[in-house]
Amino acid sequence: MDQRKVVLVGTGMVGMSFAYASLNQNACDELVLIDLNKERAIGEAMDLNHGLAFSRTAMKIYAGEYSDCKDADIVVICAGVNQKEGESRLELLSRNAKVFESIIHPVLENGFCGIFLVATNPVDIMTRITYDMSGFEWNKVIGTGTTLDTARLRYLAGDYFQIDARNIHGYVIGEHGDSEFVPWSQALIATKPIYDVIKDNKDKFSLSELEEIATQVRTSAQQIIKAKGATYYGIGMAIVRIVNAIFQNENSVLTVSSKMNGEYGLNDVFIGNPCIINRNGVRSLLELSLQRDEFSKLRDSATVLNECYAQLDVKK
Ligand code: NAD
Repeated sequence: MDQRKVVLVGTGMVGMSFAYASLNQNACDELVLIDLNKERAIGEAMDLNHGLAFSRTAMKIYAGEYSDCKDADIVVICAGVNQKEGESRLELLSRNAKVFESIIHPVLENGFCGIFLVATNPVDIMTRITYDMSGFEWNKVIGTGTTLDTARLRYLAGDYFQIDARNIHGYVIGEHGDSEFVPWSQALIATKPIYDVIKDNKDKFSLSELEEIATQVRTSAQQIIKAKGATYYGIGMAIVRIVNAIFQNENSVLTVSSKMNGEYGLNDVFIGNPCIINRNGVRSLLELSLQRDEFSKLRDSATVLNECYAQLDVKK
């Protein structure tokens, strides 16, 4: 991995937020932009290149073709179609699965053998579809999962407890969507369980306010969409965080969407859970010691994803 090469498919708001954050963080050496709308990809490459003189990198950025995937290390997929009026979630999902067919096949035909990183929604299902279509090993297919939701949680909990978000160790797990949840029994401030912090400070903090934070995390995407049409900066930075963990062989723990291989008694489903990320993709999953109610929430979330996936006709 001397020359860190990323191919980005989908140069919309999310894709370009990732590209812009990559340029600012020197996340790779070569960034190839691909979009159905080729003109857009060309324009985006020009725009980013005009910022190079102000950056601290000599990143090579250009609009390319699927043949550029041959020697890429990571293919990031942010391409997708938006919900049409009156269209069901499943219809949207079927259309996005077709979009993925038109992406994964040419990527593979050109000999790509790196890591797929998927952000397109519904991200857990789209990652599973990528795994099915690619035939790659499970650890080489990663979804952004609840990485962004976890960052939102740490920010909001940090604000609530007036503690630096980096000292809040808590995770959002499950589907990136309505059935996601915070296993509070696993959340710590430094090394002190948040439940103990609350017990010791009943005059200041409460469990019901914690649940309000979890609700805010779950609904913040809708709030942002209502206010400005779409969310993209946060997810763009989350993707860079995962790319850095891969290229720098960090063994960092991030709540990506990864295939369950017996953890929590679950198999096959791709779902957000703390995973150790390094240059091989997902090194392993961390199986948390969930309380009984948290365990059943995770299983319910997996059921939601499995049922949705089972209804899809395009998989391979
Ligand atoms: P967008 O409409 O701005 O961009 C989508 C891009 O995909 C467009 O440029 C379009 O031309 C391109 N595209 C469509 N079909 C294609 C194909 N077959 N091949 C190549 N390119 C194709 O949308 P966006 O706001 O950038 O969102 C992209 C995706 O990211 C959506 O699915 C959105 O829901 C998702 N998202 C995920 C998270 C997360 O946490 N995982 C957060 C925000 C958004």
